[in-house]
Amino acid sequence: MKIHEYQGKELLKKFGVTTPRGIPCFSVDEAVKAAETLGGKVWVVKAQIHAGGRGKGGGVKVAKSMDEVRTFAGQILGMQLVTHQTGPAGQKVRRLLIEEGADIRKEYYVAALTDRATQKVAMMASSEGGMDIEEVAHKTPEKIIKVFVDPAIGLTDAQATELANGIGVPAGSLAQAMDTLKKLYTCYMETDSSLAEINPLILEGNGGIKALDAKFNFDANALYRHPEIVAYRDLDEEDADEIEASKFDLAYISLDGNIGCLVNGAGLAMATMDTIKLFGAEPANFLDVGGGATTEKVTEAFKIMLKNSKVKGILVNIFGGIMKCDTIAEGVVAAAKETHLSVPLVVRMKGTNEDLGKKILRESGLPIISADTMADAAAKIVAAVK
Ligand code: GDP
Ligand code: MN
Repeated sequence: MKIHEYQGKELLKKFGVTTPRGIPCFSVDEAVKAAETLGGKVWVVKAQIHAGGRGKGGGVKVAKSMDEVRTFAGQILGMQLVTHQTGPAGQKVRRLLIEEGADIRKEYYVAALTDRATQKVAMMASSEGGMDIEEVAHKTPEKIIKVFVDPAIGLTDAQATELANGIGVPAGSLAQAMDTLKKLYTCYMETDSSLAEINPLILEGNGGIKALDAKFNFDANALYRHPEIVAYRDLDEEDADEIEASKFDLAYISLDGNIGCLVNGAGLAMATMDTIKLFGAEPANFLDVGGGATTEKVTEAFKIMLKNSKVKGILVNIFGGIMKCDTIAEGVVAAAKETHLSVPLVVRMKGTNEDLGKKILRESGLPIISADTMADAAAKIVAAVK
């Protein structure tokens, strides 16, 4: 689960990291009022969406007067902000963060993330802050410093020094930078994050260290023990179909292709997507209906897939184990009738009550294409949509 920058900064602040004073807003008037409350002469108007690269896309503007705060807030609020992380359609800006301006001497990058290879938490830092870190990693990988933290010990002084020195923090600010890194690590661990990133972490004119941005990702499996983080959830930032699917306990992810897939089991669902690709087409979604799919669940799954106008065909791939093929077949027939299915449907089922399932499909009177193997199923659906 992702959260907004201003929420991330609230978390960082809770763990003792210095952040600029700021106020989240939902309207232009609120933005002006926020700037007045903050006082000072410079404010930053920042779009709040669950994607990075907002600066480059025109979603972060420095205002030097109240008039500019009003103008920028008006421009950014409601805009369709396109960044390298939103995709070409962009994301509509519904919230702003108004912050006091910062005196930036240098921008750094710091982050904590899960490293699968070492099974440890990696703490990363770079002197090239403010920029796209993927680009730094690609062009100048030597400018990224990484340490791997032993969970039983935590981030050591030696590691914090290695990071802070490595990115060139001046001597006078070293202690605060090390302290910030340790707090970031603690925040990451205690909130069950999978990513906690500050880009940029800045060195101020007066030598202070401050987090100017905050990006978090949380392990969904641990959210049950963090109601305060769940409360940060912003459904406007999430895929509507995925939210709908989660209501019916369906594991659904939207993708860009045109073949909808309905599968039981995550492994089989992934193998099905691979097979579709192998036969030269692209899946429109990942969908695991789970082990205990009912007729109702299958119908909902069909409805969600068919809402996507890009879907030109559906492939159902079921392995009947605990789940019986005839149950799925009944669900497929009911769903196809209820949704007035108008795209080709290929069904492949194997396992418990396979023959009974096939019979139900055959006798339904619906133009369902039956397939025997996964390759046969993929070839048939790819041919049908082309
Ligand atoms: P992102 O582009 O989505 O990562 O948004 P950021 O919050 O990182 O902002 C992008 C850039 O805007 C930063 O790298 C800074 O250079 C700049 N910026 C952000 N806050 C301030 C500020 O208070 N003062 C000034 N001068 N620049 C800022
Ligand atoms: Mn940033």
